[in-house]
Amino acid sequence: MNYRSTRDTKLSLTAAEVIARGLSREGGLFVPESIPQISSEFLSSLVDLPYAERSAAVMKLFLSDFTEDELAQYTKAAYKNFDTESAAPLHRLDENTSFMELWHGPTCAFKDIALQILPYLLTASLRKTNESKKVCILVATSGDTGKAALEGFRDVEGTAILVFYPRDGVSDVQKLQMQSQQGNNVSVCGVEGNFDDAQTGVKQIFSDPVYAEKLAGKGWFLSSANSINWGRLLPQVVYYISAYCDLLKEGKITMGEKISFCVPTGNFGDILAGYYAKQMGLPVKRLICASNSNDVLTEFFHTGMYNRNRPFFTTVSPSMDILISSNLERLLFDASGKDAAYITSIMDQLKKTGCYTVTPEIREKLDSLFYAGCCDEDGTKAQIGKVWSERHYLMDTHTAVAHQVLGQYREAENASEQVVVVSTASPYKFCGAVLEGLGQKVSGDGLTEIAELEAYTGVPAPKPLSALRGAKVRFSASVEKEQMEKVVSDFLM
Ligand SMILES: *Cc1c(COP(=O)(O)O)cnc(C)c1O
Repeated sequence: MNYRSTRDTKLSLTAAEVIARGLSREGGLFVPESIPQISSEFLSSLVDLPYAERSAAVMKLFLSDFTEDELAQYTKAAYKNFDTESAAPLHRLDENTSFMELWHGPTCAFKDIALQILPYLLTASLRKTNESKKVCILVATSGDTGKAALEGFRDVEGTAILVFYPRDGVSDVQKLQMQSQQGNNVSVCGVEGNFDDAQTGVKQIFSDPVYAEKLAGKGWFLSSANSINWGRLLPQVVYYISAYCDLLKEGKITMGEKISFCVPTGNFGDILAGYYAKQMGLPVKRLICASNSNDVLTEFFHTGMYNRNRPFFTTVSPSMDILISSNLERLLFDASGKDAAYITSIMDQLKKTGCYTVTPEIREKLDSLFYAGCCDEDGTKAQIGKVWSERHYLMDTHTAVAHQVLGQYREAENASEQVVVVSTASPYKFCGAVLEGLGQKVSGDGLTEIAELEAYTGVPAPKPLSALRGAKVRFSASVEKEQMEKVVSDFLM
């Protein structure tokens, strides 16, 4: 199985090559040349397997240059750090709704599912491509990615990781999670400014060939851990298939019965993985794309126009505060009939004007599979309170956006199939807004709020978050954007 780029279909690279490279040189994203098909026998064979083995079996279909032994070893190591038997357990809410809780990993957000395994896939890919330099992962984070990448890469041989976060742009809990990071190959640094400043600084470092040469002389090269890397996307395909197996096991569905997934969406990585699962033959009726007040994707699915020229809202579901959903490019590549010239032209338009409109044929294709809706701040908090009072289930702000939009879908389409809501973070990562949703006063800092939420709901906080109480800060520095390159140099050379 080889891979090509969404902007150059003449390329043909192995899985190891695309994981090692991340982004294609002409700016496109790597996609598999064809989608492997799964049968009902394949699904049946997974039903009684633990999550790690389901994961190895599914990933093997795409990673022909990895052995079954390798994948078995990586998935086992990656998913042993979760506090549940499965890395993606279902919680049943009512007769036809389940939450798939993807936040039982070490950092309590769904990014762990991919970032716990990416270091294994990446270091193996570097070996397979005969790369002799060591890799430094450079991350600009708006919160969840940085911590998940730090945990994934800590003490992984042949790697180092440096995370920049906007000093005033992350929550107290998120900041402390990063500042207290353990490991001998890690560093964390604040940047004066917002997420865009940190992101721009990192991009500048990446795109400086002279600097790259200097690092190479010292035996290093830079790579990123963001969700455009195929090695981050592929592990996410697994949990869609896994959820289907779990519903079969519960006896809630029969083989072949179609179900839907509802996904809180930002960069379009998570829901795109669901799209690939559907293309593999998983019986999926609809993929419901839920957005917060940053509703650029809702408008896109409703009108065919993608327009990033709009106000940016900072919301209580910050991991969805995104105006450019990078992974949408992979979906449009497929929907355009794999037309790389077309993708190049609309992505150029996006860069130049901030806007593009897809053809009516593409819109029609997307319409039959996707439903899109959005939910504002009050709606998000109200949903948290409603589900707690009616069902005694505590959910985070991102999951609440998705669950609210699911209600819109069911009403609009009169739909009654089984739906899995993808639950992406522990409610304890966003205590302030969750407490408000429960009608409680918010006081104090992030750590106090964890205790308050525990006291009010009786739901225990995940250990990695309650342990922050005694955590020692290791990395408290922050710098101006212009000094970021020097921070990299001091760390590596
Ligand atoms: C990253 C993230 C999302 C958005 O996922 P995408 O793959 O970027 O669409 C949603 N919820 C949480 C909690 C996240 O961390």
